[in-house]
Amino acid sequence: MDTGLGLHDYAGPSRKVRSFMNVMRAVQDPDLAAVRQVARLGYKSEEVCDIVLTHLHLDHAGGLPDFPGAQVHLYRREYEALQHPRRLLEIAGYDRAGFVHGPQWRLHEMQGEKWYDFDAVRLPGIEPEVWLVPLPGHTSGHCGVAIHSRSGWLFFCGDAVPVNLNLGFWPVLLYRSTIGSHVPRLKAFARSHPEVRMLAGHMWLDWFEKEKLA
Ligand SMILES: [Zn+2]
Repeated sequence: MDTGLGLHDYAGPSRKVRSFMNVMRAVQDPDLAAVRQVARLGYKSEEVCDIVLTHLHLDHAGGLPDFPGAQVHLYRREYEALQHPRRLLEIAGYDRAGFVHGPQWRLHEMQGEKWYDFDAVRLPGIEPEVWLVPLPGHTSGHCGVAIHSRSGWLFFCGDAVPVNLNLGFWPVLLYRSTIGSHVPRLKAFARSHPEVRMLAGHMWLDWFEKEKLA
C-alpha cells in the first residue's frame, strides 16, 4: 500500500516536505522509509512489484522512487487531480519531486463493481483480491484499499478518517470540508462488519476498535 515518505525526503527534503515535517512534527528517521522496512522483512526493493496508493500526497507517495520497478496502482481520478490540482489539499500536498523518476502508473476506473456495499474497483491480475474503494474528499481521487489477506479482510481507509482526534480549529474546518462525510459510514461499517480489520492513515491501529464500542 502507501509508501510514506521516501529516502530522498529524509536525505534532501523539498520545501513542501520540509514544511510538512515541521507542521506534523514528523520523526526524521530514514529507517522509517518503506524501503528500509521492506528490507528488515528480508526483501529487496526490486521484489516489490505492485504498490497500491490511497492518494498522491507527499506523505503517502513520497517513497515511490525507492521502488522504481514497481507498478503503481492508482484510481484514475487521483492521477487527473495530480495533473490539474484544484483543491487546497491537492495544491499543497502533492510534491512532484516524488514522481520525476517516472512511476509505472496503472490507472483504474470504476466498472460498476461493489466491495461489500461500497462502489469499488478490483485490481485485475492481482491475488489475493485487492480493491480500490473511492472515498473522495480529502483529495478528488482518494481511495480506501481493501485486501483479502490470509487472515481475512483488511480495509485501509487512508486519510478518509481524521488524522488526530484532538482536533484544533483549522483541522476541524479541513475535516468537515474534506473527509467528514465518510466517517459516519465507515464507523457504521466497522460496527456491522467486525470480520473486517480497518485501519486509518494516521491513526493508532485500534481507533476503529474503540469506535465500534462507542
Ligand atoms: Zn493525505
